[in-house]
Amino acid sequence: MTDPVPSRAEIVVDLAAIRHNVRILKDLVTVDAPVQLMVVVKADGYGHGMVEAAEAARDAGADWLGVATIDEALALRAAGDRGPLLSWLSAPGDDFAAAVAAGVEVTAYSVDELQAIGAVGPARVQIKVDTGLSRGGAARADWHDLFATASDLERAGRITVTGIWSHFACSDQPAHPANDQQEAAFREALALAASAGLDPDVTHLANSAATILRPSSHFDLVRCGIAVYGLDPAPGVTPRLGLRPAMTVRARLVLSKPLAAGDGVSYGHTWVADHDTSVGVVPAGYGEGILRTAGNTASVWVEDSLRPIRGRMCMDQFVIDLHGELPPAGTEVVLFGPGDRGEPTAQDWAEAAGTINYEVVTRIGGRLSRRHV
Ligand code: PLP
Repeated sequence: MTDPVPSRAEIVVDLAAIRHNVRILKDLVTVDAPVQLMVVVKADGYGHGMVEAAEAARDAGADWLGVATIDEALALRAAGDRGPLLSWLSAPGDDFAAAVAAGVEVTAYSVDELQAIGAVGPARVQIKVDTGLSRGGAARADWHDLFATASDLERAGRITVTGIWSHFACSDQPAHPANDQQEAAFREALALAASAGLDPDVTHLANSAATILRPSSHFDLVRCGIAVYGLDPAPGVTPRLGLRPAMTVRARLVLSKPLAAGDGVSYGHTWVADHDTSVGVVPAGYGEGILRTAGNTASVWVEDSLRPIRGRMCMDQFVIDLHGELPPAGTEVVLFGPGDRGEPTAQDWAEAAGTINYEVVTRIGGRLSRRHV
């Protein structure tokens, strides 16, 4: 990248990549049927900036946006978003009235939630059933009562059930038996809902991995998060689709200096040079959400080559091996990016640091500035 890097470090988000990825996913799901695409922008757009990611997604044809909390949904409305928008994680005391007034479709898991939403209605509600993730969503034993209550509230004009949905546990492992079981359970839930007189506009189950790997789970709509940001939901499994990673994190070297054989680096001296070399200091650390487990494991990109991180990740900085070279202070350091130039990707960092690409991008932030291009 040739643009100036600020004195410290920054996140650069390529909105054209987000738009490109949305178009690819939309094309993928509309090949055989008119399936809608919900772009998931919770957790600040997986670290990419919720409002900017949402605008890019809508521009590129996203039919829906999805967020976890009502607060996130209201923030999108406050930023001017007016399109179809679903939230799915309510907590005791949540302001359903504000969500309903803002035209947000809220999700209900229980009879109590349906009644609370109905009390501030008329409201557009989606019902989440638990088909095997054993997290949020109505347990199978409660489906009958839930659908009956929903039907009563519809007849009373308090709610309209616009959607019924569920969420996969193992869609990144296509051969896992839970996938078939969940899809079958979801179909049972839909049949039960129909027999209770419910006729939702949309039914949905698939996240990014299922969108790419399991067309039978597309139903009326798919909910994609990680793939929209250009990262692979099932590394090594997902076929290459031409998705482009949207996030680059880069910094400027603070200093470089020689290091003698036998010198230890960073707290605890977990890395000790076994030959004369040189090191550089990068001004970002776990205070910026950079994974501490990247210490001694991940690499960065400086002057067209990979430079390994040496020693522990600190709160505000970390040390890299410059292999005897002494680039000047201010030299660009790319932590991770799309990988086009050979720089590491968020996936490389995830593998090095023992986590998933979702965590690498979602955590990053803190004192870093973020720029959308
Ligand atoms: N649907 C729900 C309910 C989610 O919580 C998420 C994210 O975790 C998604 C869809 C998107 O998942 P992914 O980022 O794997 O596409």
